[in-house]
Parts: sequence; structure tokens; C-alpha cells
Amino acid sequence: MRTLIEHLEFILTVDSDDNVLKDASIVIDDDVITDVGPAEEIGQRYARAGFDQIVDGSHLGMTPGFIDSHVHLSETLSRAVFPDDIDTRTWVFHWAKPFYAHVDEEDEKTSVALACCEMLRSGTTCFLDMGAQNDPAGTIPVLENIGMRGITGQHAADNVPEKLPHGWSDEMVAHHFFANADIALAALGDTVEKWNGAGDGRIRVWVNIEGKEPCSLELHVGARTLAEKYGVGTTYHIATSIEEAKISEKKYGAWPVQRIADAGGLGSNLVIAHGVALTDQEIALLKEYDTKVAFCPGTSFKLAKGAGAFGKYPELIEAGVTVCLGTDGVSASGNLNLMRQMYVVAGLFKDIRNDPTMVGARMALRMATIDGAKALGWDEEIGSIEIGKKADFVLFNLHHVEWTPYFDPLQALVWSASPNSIDQTWVNGRALYSAGKVQTIDEETLFEDARKRAKAIIERAGLSAEGVPKATSLYE
Ligand SMILES: [Zn+2]
Repeated sequence: MRTLIEHLEFILTVDSDDNVLKDASIVIDDDVITDVGPAEEIGQRYARAGFDQIVDGSHLGMTPGFIDSHVHLSETLSRAVFPDDIDTRTWVFHWAKPFYAHVDEEDEKTSVALACCEMLRSGTTCFLDMGAQNDPAGTIPVLENIGMRGITGQHAADNVPEKLPHGWSDEMVAHHFFANADIALAALGDTVEKWNGAGDGRIRVWVNIEGKEPCSLELHVGARTLAEKYGVGTTYHIATSIEEAKISEKKYGAWPVQRIADAGGLGSNLVIAHGVALTDQEIALLKEYDTKVAFCPGTSFKLAKGAGAFGKYPELIEAGVTVCLGTDGVSASGNLNLMRQMYVVAGLFKDIRNDPTMVGARMALRMATIDGAKALGWDEEIGSIEIGKKADFVLFNLHHVEWTPYFDPLQALVWSASPNSIDQTWVNGRALYSAGKVQTIDEETLFEDARKRAKAIIERAGLSAEGVPKATSLYE
């Protein structure tokens, strides 16, 4: 299948020089970009009869597909379920955990499909998912059928709190925690062996763990070592708030990333999710080991993690650490719309530091594309519009009010546009979102199913009852 998309008004290539092409054309052979450049030159190089499909791009603008570097596909049924006025640890231990413990295998398939639906509609083509709550044998075929690209795994934790808190049952603990780090790692290794490379290589599987208090130090360190053995990566939540850092200091005499580093746990195949609470020394360590950081501004906004007050993301970028963007789960941030994260990160530090040179549109787009690809170890194939890369991209309708008028496409993309003006989202040479719908999902049936299942989970988890705690001292 040979496709020509011609006379695109612009292509934001996000190549090493951030080149912006105007009146450009692109040639796609099956799943790969085989030529890109000025429309006139491309027109001279190819006979029109040689194309199976020619798309008029004259009112369209192209960007690379967005890469969501921290998402929970299994949490999509928990939209707007938990209160938005409780601290992160209460939110996790007393609300999120009981909810997810009651997400069964069928619920999880629905949740994953719904996540893909929202991502494709928002221009996201690739993700780093924290992993399935149940056997990934249920969710990976769903991902294969929908056609997105991404990394998933299996939920893992091994450190049960001493006293079971409100809402936790023995059954839930048995489902949620492995008996120890060795048993957890054996299971995660099996999952990598079984599923890595599924969907013709579009689905990769990593040795992901939950991270923080529910995981032992041994599991944090062991996950990265095991991932290295398999030639894959690992990701976990760490240094997500000042509270977590202070508890770590009190219990272990070191902040979370320092503690991992002291145990030999940092490396280039590790993506830490959040990284809100970091010392300057920890930033230097992340740089030294080429460990990546996935920033989730939406989660910080909704859960008050303090990214604006304490976050050192501009310092991480300045130090040369790869910082990418995540939406986190819909319960944490409210949505899986990476464009919204771009908007926030572009402006957050300008405002807080009172400095217009902080982050900005150019860096925000890189974080949402090529830097995400680097974090996922996939930048040879995705993250920019260049010859030889996979055909993963977004086409914006420039006749939409969000683009009327515009001059600089980069600024318009980050500051003005939203998923409302997305015309098509392509993954691996296929338009998975076009003509106003996700082509590989029966959206109406999915939405109906999702509404029913979410309601049932809330009932089963007891979250509609009185007495769910609004504060916690768990793991302290
Ligand atoms: Zn998360």
C-alpha cells in the first residue's frame, strides 16, 4: 500500500533541528515514511499512478503522534469517582486500591478499549502503560485489535501494609500483592517472554512495578536488572510528592531516588513516573545514569502533588535528563488528553518562575513526542516525522476555528489547538481515527458497557458507602 499525502500546509517534523515544512508532501509505504519534503519536489519524484491512495492535505497540518509516557489503561472506568479534595496517599490507599481490586478481567478489557478510544481521539499513538491488574492475556489481544502502539505489563507490588486499612479485604491483598520480590519478578519475566512483540511488534512488554511504599527496595532494584536481562525497560512511581520524600527520609535516611541509587537501581532503561520531589544531587544521579522522568502535570494539578511549588523539571531539562509527558490514569488527572498536558507544561514554569523562557511550546512538543520515544527506547522508529520512521502522526483540520487564523503552527498547536481540531490519527500507516470516529472500535457499544461496569465496580468496592477515610497514616 503506497499513500501520498500532498500539499500539507505544514509538517512539524520534531527532527533534531525542529524543522517546520510548509506546503509539504509525505510518502508512506505500508507502515513506514519513505519520503517527505516540499510538495513540488515530491511531485516531481513520483508518478501519481504509482500511489494506491492520494490524500489532499491542503487544509491539514501534521505533527508526530503523541506519546503518553505514563498512563494506566486499567483505570479508565474510575473517571470522577474519588473525591478531589484528599491527599495523594489517602486517594491511593483508601479509594484507588479498593476500586482497582474490583476491576475484573472483563471490566479491564472495557477499560483498555476506552483508554485507546480517548487517546486516539486526542492524537496519542503510543503509550507506556503501568500494566494489567489481571492477566495481560485478557488485555493484550484488545490492544492488538485496536491497532495502537505501546508498552504494557502486569501490575506488581510485594509490600503489604502491617494492618489492613478500611476497604481492603484478604482476597484483595492476595490479588494485589505477590508474596515477595522473587515471586513477583518471576511472574513479570514470564509476561515479558509470553507477550513482548505482540501485534507484529507494536505491543512491547516491560517489567513494570507499582513502585513507592507498596514495593520493597528489592523489587524496585530487581525490576530494572531483570528488564536489562530481557533487553526491555521498567517504569514505576517514585518521588511523587514531598510527603513521600519526607516519610522516606524519616524511615530510611534518604529521599526515594537517592535510596534507589544507593542500592544500584538507576539505569537508562528506567522511566520514573512523576519525580516531583528531587534534590539537586538526585537530578545529577538521574543524568549520570540516563534515567528518564515522566512528568504528569494533570495529576499534580488534581492531586496537589506540588510540581509547581517544588518540581525541578526545568532543572532536569537543563541538566540534560530526558523528561517526557504522561496523563496518568483518568482518576489521577481526569483525562487521557496529552495535548492538555502539553499546554500545562508549556506554561506552568513560565508563570511560577516568572520567566517567559521556561519550557515553552517547542519543548512541550518535544516532551510529548521525541522525548517520549527516547524514554520508551523507541526513538529509532517513532517520535518524529522523518524518512524511515513509522507512519504514526496526527492531522489537524486547519479550517477549524482553533486554527483560524494562525501564523506560527507550533504556537497554535500548543496554545490554541485541542483534540477538537484533530481530523485523523494514524498509527503504523493506518488512520485509526478518522471521519469523527475510532475505526477499530464500536464506540457506542463500548460507552454503554463502560457506564454499566463502572457503576457496578463502585458498588462492589464499597466506595458509595459512608466512612471511606479522608486521611491516612498507612506505611508511615
Ligand atoms: Zn500513575
